[in-house]
Amino acid sequence: MSDSLPIRDDLRGRTPYGAPQLDVAVRLNTNENSYPLPDDVVEAIGKAVQAELRDLNRYPDRDAMALRTALADYLGHGLTAAQVWAANGSNEVQQQLLQAFGGPGRTALGFGPSYSMHPLLAAGTGTRWIGALRDPDFGLTPAAAVAQLEEHDPDVVFLCSPNNPTGTALDPSVTGAVLAAARGMVIVDEAYAEFARPGTPSAVELLPASSRLVVTRTMSKAFGFAGGRLGYLAADPAVVDAVQLVRLPYHLSALTQAAARAALAQRDALLATVAAIKEQRDRIVGTLRERGYRVADSDANFVLFAVSPGEASGDQRVVWQRLLDRGVLVRDVGLAGWLRVTAGTPAETDAFLEALR
Ligand SMILES: *Cc1c(COP(=O)(O)O)cnc(C)c1O
Repeated sequence: MSDSLPIRDDLRGRTPYGAPQLDVAVRLNTNENSYPLPDDVVEAIGKAVQAELRDLNRYPDRDAMALRTALADYLGHGLTAAQVWAANGSNEVQQQLLQAFGGPGRTALGFGPSYSMHPLLAAGTGTRWIGALRDPDFGLTPAAAVAQLEEHDPDVVFLCSPNNPTGTALDPSVTGAVLAAARGMVIVDEAYAEFARPGTPSAVELLPASSRLVVTRTMSKAFGFAGGRLGYLAADPAVVDAVQLVRLPYHLSALTQAAARAALAQRDALLATVAAIKEQRDRIVGTLRERGYRVADSDANFVLFAVSPGEASGDQRVVWQRLLDRGVLVRDVGLAGWLRVTAGTPAETDAFLEALR
């Protein structure tokens, strides 16, 4: 970037989010759903979008009421549209939350290693980022979380459950303890909730207990709708009122709203791949452990693994390149000695396991 541009001082020299989008046979680096949409869902979305086209001279429903009603219905727990908000991906939802509750003079805290977009969204909104830490084994205990909150007293706390890139869901006691200890907003990023192992509760259950809790979800992963760009939140209606102060008018296009509504109406067909993906995830975890690799428990559609079997530590950049040379793209999240691989189709798992060998 040209040094001559009068860019904000706090953005100068930063690098943008950039998972490589390479044309490789086996792409297991961004946790997309590997399965294309089934034909009848494609047809239903096509019809829904077609029905909007003549009215594209008009702005869309600014409040996306029909879509929010459908999302509330999907989430269950008695939620209503007043407690749900939607935007172009949960990244945009989180950006709006930071615009409303963070910003210049305020702070946001997250427990790394976690989702790399949280600090980037903080930077973009002028929110000072505080990098708190998970335990060395990637877990997070209530005591460790609370101690770091008491030290920093942030305006916004990010939790991620199941956590990206480590894969493990948070114990609900952590979310409860963080809510009790935090003065500010607590955002629980549940992008991978649909993949969680049985018995893993969602923070949605805690919503009645606190108006400072926000749960964000997305259709990008389990729904296989990453290209459709639809994320959403569930929270107290006052939180929805707050994000409406900062959202752009008509931020969610009529085409996006129609496509997402049609996709939600076909949710059984779309979510049918989740069980198959979880099977591949568990197969990757099991096979790597049999081969002597250290692997984090995963409640998501990806697996974090140490690149050298046993206790030896390897250079993940070398292994990443060697896998790529064999046509398999995985993710280097910048964690020394570890790589993250998305669970996709059985054939993709075969290719990954063979290439790693
Ligand atoms: C993939 C992912 C998202 C999804 O972002 P969208 O903008 O909804 O596509 C959100 N949070 C985490 C932790 C993710 O890994």
